[in-house]
Amino acid sequence: MDYRYDHILIRYGELSLKGKNRNSFIKQLMVNVKKALKSFVTLEFERQHDRMYIYLHDENAEQVSEVLKKVFGISSFSLAIKTKPDMDEIIQACLDSQDLDACKTFKVAARRSDKTFPIISDQMNRLVATAILKNSNWKVDVHNPDVKVVVEVHKDAAYIMTDRIEGAGGYPVGVGGKAMVLLSGGIDSPVASYLMMKRGTHIECIHYASPPYTSQNAQDKVMELAQQICGYQGDLLVHVVPFTNLQLAIYQHADESYAITLMRRMMMRIATGLAEKRHAQAIATGESIGQVASQTLESMQAINEVTSTPIIRPVVCMDKVEIIDLAKKIGTYETSILPYEDCCTIFTPKNPVTKPKIDRCKKYEDRFDFETMVNDCIENVESIWIHPKKEDKTEEELF
Ligand code: ATP
Ligand code: MG
Repeated sequence: MDYRYDHILIRYGELSLKGKNRNSFIKQLMVNVKKALKSFVTLEFERQHDRMYIYLHDENAEQVSEVLKKVFGISSFSLAIKTKPDMDEIIQACLDSQDLDACKTFKVAARRSDKTFPIISDQMNRLVATAILKNSNWKVDVHNPDVKVVVEVHKDAAYIMTDRIEGAGGYPVGVGGKAMVLLSGGIDSPVASYLMMKRGTHIECIHYASPPYTSQNAQDKVMELAQQICGYQGDLLVHVVPFTNLQLAIYQHADESYAITLMRRMMMRIATGLAEKRHAQAIATGESIGQVASQTLESMQAINEVTSTPIIRPVVCMDKVEIIDLAKKIGTYETSILPYEDCCTIFTPKNPVTKPKIDRCKKYEDRFDFETMVNDCIENVESIWIHPKKEDKTEEELF
């Protein structure tokens, strides 16, 4: 990456599919980009119909890029130098953008979006390439170049760019409502969280803790996971539910084989109450069909029966291998496999029912006043804000 780049050009991608919503989506994207980059105080932002431009001023392009890679709604971006739409200036900027002392192969890809610009693309390609060849030992390679010098000429400005840097895709967080994601310490639920945010849904997380059966380490691990995913939406609220009493009551009053099903029904009741309180329209989990004995369609029926709030299961049809690949990509995998118990593993019955009957669930639930306990859980939730980690400052900035 080169320090001579003074702008970043952002492309929206998938947004272009959404005719009517387009404007509000782009507005939300602008808000999210600014929020994600708020610690880079000298940045300047400009929004246009199909692009967004960031003027870097004194900020470090590499650090800004790292943050941008996590903002949903961006299909790709490029570092750029802005010049006047003037061929001499364009050529000079192309030369400035490269380390011409190194020996490289290159290709020029020029484009006019302003068709009144007097020099056509082919001619621009030739003029720029000739200038580079004259000022360096570089060679042209149109098929597999080390460097692609991209030139775009608009009506008011021209941009000289690097190759595209892939963005996070999806929709800007905030355009798709809000959901409560059940976040355990496992592999699946952080991936489910990521996929919800990628669809533009703002999330809050719920974690059910059963101290002293689950340890502080287990809870810290969940907070670490929350920290790892929160860069995709900015701040993230995690609700920690004191779940011990309710879980003990289940074990006291129900057949062991139904414990997991009942526990999940209670989780959903609590999540429904919290969703209402926090004005969320859905609940999401990391369940996947057949992954464990209790994750069957019959089990999902029994779980869904306790709430009319939609339950979204983003990884429901994914293979474990696919989920693990995504977990590795978003950086949660290594934390997820740390061996701390969660509330499910503590009370794992030997033979969980794979096809629970709703009638039997109700029969067990009639044996105790679970409603009061559910309300207690909702009342006594501890809500913790998680913020993205501050970017590491480079040595240059420290001195
Ligand atoms: P994960 O890897 O997400 O833990 P898992 O395969 O271990 O998934 P389960 O433990 O059966 O699956 O849980 C299924 C889903 O239920 C989780 O993905 C999560 O959404 C939710 N869940 C389970 N335990 C908890 C918990 N202690 N707190 C919050 N949510 C939980
Ligand atoms: Mg789990």
